Amino acid sequence: MVDILPEDTPLWQSMETAALEVLSSYGYEEVRLPIIESTDLFARSIGEVTDIVEKEMYTFADRNDDSMTLRPEGTAGCVRAVVQHNLAVTPQRLWYMGPMFRYERPQKGRQRQFHQLGVEAFGVSSPDQDAELIALCRQFWRRLGVDDALQLEINTIGSAADRACYRDALVGYLSQHVDQLDEDSQRRLDSNPLRILDSKNSDTQQILDNAPVLQDYIDDDTRAEFEQLLAYLNALGIEYVVNPRLVRGLDYYNKTVFEWTTEHLGAQSTVCGGGRYDTLVETFGGKSTPAAGFAVGLERLTLLMQALDITVSPAADLYVITANEAAFRHSLPRLDGLRRRFPELDIVQHLGGGSFKSQFKRADKSGAAWALVYGEAEVAAEQVTLKPLRADAEQKTIADTELEVFLEEVLNDAQSA
Ligand code: ATP
Ligand code: MG
Repeated sequence: MVDILPEDTPLWQSMETAALEVLSSYGYEEVRLPIIESTDLFARSIGEVTDIVEKEMYTFADRNDDSMTLRPEGTAGCVRAVVQHNLAVTPQRLWYMGPMFRYERPQKGRQRQFHQLGVEAFGVSSPDQDAELIALCRQFWRRLGVDDALQLEINTIGSAADRACYRDALVGYLSQHVDQLDEDSQRRLDSNPLRILDSKNSDTQQILDNAPVLQDYIDDDTRAEFEQLLAYLNALGIEYVVNPRLVRGLDYYNKTVFEWTTEHLGAQSTVCGGGRYDTLVETFGGKSTPAAGFAVGLERLTLLMQALDITVSPAADLYVITANEAAFRHSLPRLDGLRRRFPELDIVQHLGGGSFKSQFKRADKSGAAWALVYGEAEVAAEQVTLKPLRADAEQKTIADTELEVFLEEVLNDAQSA
């Protein structure tokens, strides 16, 4: 579990704000979902033999001895809510953001509590929906300035029936080469053979070079839909790599699957993953409803922003210094008025008194752009002094009444920076 400290929260907040703006610009609406669900919800949707359900869930018995789980991902809970509240009678575009929990070996970009932005769209089976989701991702990357650092990989994995046929063929082939497979893949041969396609082991990869390919087992309609999706991506100017071995780790996907990956984050290279899950709503007792979605790993996205030197300053605009008790009292209603007039401006007041020298030291350390000074002379003359701490400008003393005009300029500068 990781603390996100004040030095990093500005980056998180700017990312969250960008997400909110992009999502609402496409008409997606927020849902807020519980962090704890009954265990069986995840077992049924994610799949009994997946990494998540086999070894990564935080599961416990509550006081009534019901088995509960801290959510390892958001789609299951979102689909439960959609069915429970009958949300998918008309197409629904939904999103949520929050912590997820998986018992994994912690490393850079891999935590036991991490955060995802999840986006889910219900009710549209055609690939225009898939294209919209992918376009929305790119818009988000652009807003953050990371679009050049992310590549889209995409594939179609057909229907569950297609995959069952393929699974038999794949197991038939791999069974002849068991000895050459890595340990994980040997284990998966019985439980979840498609995951072997994901193996990073080079010997296993070599065996896979001659394995049957999933594409040959997918029906013509599904393939035509995939071609249509690719045509939409071309129209949008979104570059992609069709990766025939991309299968994703969760059982509920069908047809389109995709991932956005980066070369800047080492082994934890996938920042976003998603796809279509047309049967999940029905699995949860709802009316058959096509659906598609994706999840962004927000830790990995912030790591990527940091790797690209994208910074967001937490520093205030003004640090307020007062000469003495009387000056402090004099400043109170004035600052109160400024905060009401300029809600976007960050005004930090020095508290606890002290000499001018020590207050200026703090002001400097705070990283604020300006010190706003109420000295004895200023108070008597209804003036303030503005001393630049970071800004490239001259110190000046102005009438209280001119302060608002000055702050409007500060705000303009801050916004254009
Ligand atoms: P991986 O193969 O890296 O374990 P995954 O397939 O398990 O990823 P998903 O379940 O698809 O991941 O989750 C979507 C995204 O959430 C991932 O692409 C990643 O960015 C992020 N994510 C998943 N697990 C973690 C984790 N333990 N810590 C941080 N981010 C994570
Ligand atoms: Mg994982």
